[in-house]
Amino acid sequence: MASPSSPEPRADRVRLAALGGRDDAPAGAVRLDLNTAPAEAPGLRERLARELDELTLSDYGDERALGLRRSLATHTGRRVEEIFVAGGSMAVLERLVAGWGGAGRTALGFAPGYLGAERLCAVLGTTVALAPRDAAFGLDADRALAAVREHRPDLVLLCHPGNPSGRPEEPDTVRALCAAAPGALIVVDEAYVDFAAAPSMLALTDEVRPNLVVVRSLSKAWALAGARVGYAVADPAIVRALQDGQLPGAVSALTQAVARAALGEPAADRAGRIAAIVAERERVERALDAQDGVRVWPSQANFVLFAPPDPADVLARCAAAGVLIRDVGGRPGLEGCLRATIGAPAANDALLSAIGRAPR
Ligand code: PMP
Repeated sequence: MASPSSPEPRADRVRLAALGGRDDAPAGAVRLDLNTAPAEAPGLRERLARELDELTLSDYGDERALGLRRSLATHTGRRVEEIFVAGGSMAVLERLVAGWGGAGRTALGFAPGYLGAERLCAVLGTTVALAPRDAAFGLDADRALAAVREHRPDLVLLCHPGNPSGRPEEPDTVRALCAAAPGALIVVDEAYVDFAAAPSMLALTDEVRPNLVVVRSLSKAWALAGARVGYAVADPAIVRALQDGQLPGAVSALTQAVARAALGEPAADRAGRIAAIVAERERVERALDAQDGVRVWPSQANFVLFAPPDPADVLARCAAAGVLIRDVGGRPGLEGCLRATIGAPAANDALLSAIGRAPR
């Protein structure tokens, strides 16, 4: 007798699991491939213990995360009606694509851009149109508007500063896009903006059309990747639509508690942690730049993009030293490029030694 098999799911189901990171990393490897923080913020656990004392987990709690949204409104200087929270900025992007993308709709990205957002659009059935950036990964308003005229997108994907380039977007480009495509959502992913000298595009939400969405993450500068918290700042009508499409309790009471604990970090402590990463980034950039034949792009994020003469050899030496970095060289415009997260000084030294440059 044939063994019973489970019912087949729909063939066109979306495969979001494909968006996850690698799960073959050797135990104990130094992860400079995920752009996370080197360590938890000091004091996080104590603040979390106090938050947990206030929780009653037999209750559903604040299912619309109003308290957390209020804290984020204070942090960003916006109104609570302008804040949407989800389980990581990836989940924010997923809600945006679910609402404004999908079958028969087009998302416009500029290559090389953030692959995660492009893949998310693709798995959710959205057509992804890619227009090229200039050779230095820049995107001026003329180039962006030409692509809008050609592709007539429903969504435009920007990343400020960019992953993997580390280069900020131009405010004039964002302004021009908002004006030229009033029926499209202009999504600016600011997962790394806290490391940038360039200001956030949030300043533009006062002055431009109500089609700008700024997406933020607590996974990077807030050192909270494991808790899965991201948020969007947008026009209240967009936030209402996002809320409408989200299950109540999608951001659990535990997640809200840990996010509040993270947001409770004294601003000076947080600024100090970020400054230390920026200083390390500059040291790593200098050390890479000083090597023969290595090209390194100036970064405003917590990672650096570089092209060594022999990327395969660098990858192998890093792997042998237990350091994982990201090979991004398979994508157009990024030939021969590697991306390394800025970690703790010892991890960065390990990276530089593996690449062949003695730390200094
Ligand atoms: N946006 C960008 C540009 C990223 O690089 C990442 C993670 N690598 C994300 C969003 C997703 O981050 P998270 O879901 O942890 O907030």
